[in-house]
Amino acid sequence: MTLYTPPFSNLQSIILEQCTPTSPKPLAIITPFLYSHVQSAVICCAQFGLNIRIRSGGHDYEGLSYTSRDHIPFILLDLNQLRSVEVDLDSKTTWVESGATLGELYYWVSQKSDILGFPAGECPSVGVGGQLCGGGFGMLARKYGLSVDNVVDARLVDVNGRILDRDSMGKDWFWAVRGGGGGSFGVVVSWKINLVYVPPTVTVFSLSKPLDENGTQLVHKWQHVAPNVTNDLFINLIITPVIQEVDAGSSWMMQVTINSLFLGTTNELLEIVSDVFPELGLQAKDCIQMSWIESVVYYSFYLRGQSIDVLKDRPAMPKSYFKVKSDYVTKPIPIDALEEIWKWCLRANLSLLIEPHGGKMSEIDETETPYPHREGNLYMIQYIMGWDDEDRGFKACKRYVGWVRRVYEKMRPYVSKNPRGAYVNFRDLDLGTNCNACGANYGEARRWGRKYFRGNFRRLAIVKGMVDPTNFFSNEQSIPPLVLSSSY
Ligand SMILES: Cc1cc2nc3c(=O)[nH]c(=O)nc-3n(C[C@H](O)[C@H](O)[C@H](O)COP(=O)(O)OP(=O)(O)OC[C@H]3O[C@@H](n4cnc5c(N)ncnc54)[C@H](O)[C@@H]3O)c2cc1C
Repeated sequence: MTLYTPPFSNLQSIILEQCTPTSPKPLAIITPFLYSHVQSAVICCAQFGLNIRIRSGGHDYEGLSYTSRDHIPFILLDLNQLRSVEVDLDSKTTWVESGATLGELYYWVSQKSDILGFPAGECPSVGVGGQLCGGGFGMLARKYGLSVDNVVDARLVDVNGRILDRDSMGKDWFWAVRGGGGGSFGVVVSWKINLVYVPPTVTVFSLSKPLDENGTQLVHKWQHVAPNVTNDLFINLIITPVIQEVDAGSSWMMQVTINSLFLGTTNELLEIVSDVFPELGLQAKDCIQMSWIESVVYYSFYLRGQSIDVLKDRPAMPKSYFKVKSDYVTKPIPIDALEEIWKWCLRANLSLLIEPHGGKMSEIDETETPYPHREGNLYMIQYIMGWDDEDRGFKACKRYVGWVRRVYEKMRPYVSKNPRGAYVNFRDLDLGTNCNACGANYGEARRWGRKYFRGNFRRLAIVKGMVDPTNFFSNEQSIPPLVLSSSY
């Protein structure tokens, strides 16, 4: 067993700013170096009636880890110094602390073995803490499921300042922690994860096509292929407006980029693709063989071309401003509807990131973890509206957010229903919020809670009622306590 303990350096966690310059600030920022510091912080805040916001990597889409919409006084508990990664090759497990980034986790695992990896998100600056609290979807999901499907233990500081593990938490609490969303069930300080096998050579490709040529047909076919093909192949789509040069000048058009990670060699990949997706016209020259850890850097667009060592340096993403919403699709969208959708996106300057489900994701029962979007879901969509710093004025921000909301509304006929699903790690306060100043209400919270968790929401609320009945760990979308009069 090896222990990596990082130096206490001038680390900066990424802060994705909220729109308004008047966003409430914390009364203090506490940066624990030891678990006992976390325990003291929780006990003090509970005693003085202060709300606590827990930040691991700071990537929450709505900033819930470092600000409070309700303007209630809060302390920010920043876990960025709790980031050790202990890899145990014998058991193929790792204890990783919540303040580590995914990039650090991937890097330190790769330093011990070139055939072990971990299924989690594609952005290396995301924090382990927030990501594992909400699920953890990435390019290994079709092969191995979500991050939380591979969590075997966790250490958590509860509302009374106790440190608990899987055994002392008990079955329901441990279930809730693995995907029930951050900030509800305690401060998870570390996670024990199962590492997964990755071959020494993987193959990637990234092809861009204009949607007005045969791109729409490719997207249409992709809907049938990507969720059903071998679990070793992950193909996602980025659909985005781009400027094209034409004789008369330049104009905007929609483009699809087809990105893939294949757990095998180029020859094996070409054989599969020519069989199931010949329309793609994939050729050997489009494919690059590399190690799995190199593919992590390849798909971190702002790091592409750099050495894998960059992952251990916790490089911050370029600062950006955005609003994201999410959906699940259960039936392929017809071609004419796709063409209509491209028009909406072009008009709104909106990008779509479309990620396939199927494979292992469908084999896991929807009640096994709080993440319920399993069998029957073909893919998930993120609607991404980004804008530049200079556009940051409050009015501009409202305009951009309005555009993404409008496209989301128009998408209703093509996406999951009753409830319309959303992914809790793609936090979206438009779906509904608690009123923390006036007390969270289970009945009202069902409106947004069932979108994230479907039938699992009730069980999450019951667990919350058992482990934190006074709702100490709370934010705008934390799980409200449901206290039952008799045991369930
Ligand atoms: C650029 C970008 C790319 C992304 N890519 C992916 C992706 O590929 N796949 C994917 O699944 N998701 C992705 N996400 C979403 C991401 O998983 C979530 O935003 C996640 O919650 C971020 O974790 P964090 O620790 O960085 O965030 P934080 O903002 O620190 O935390 C998020 C939430 O969890 C709570 N929390 C944080 N740490 C703890 C803890 N230790 N104990 C209890 N509660 C805690 C916070 O209070 C907050 O409510 C991406 C987000 C961004 C911004």
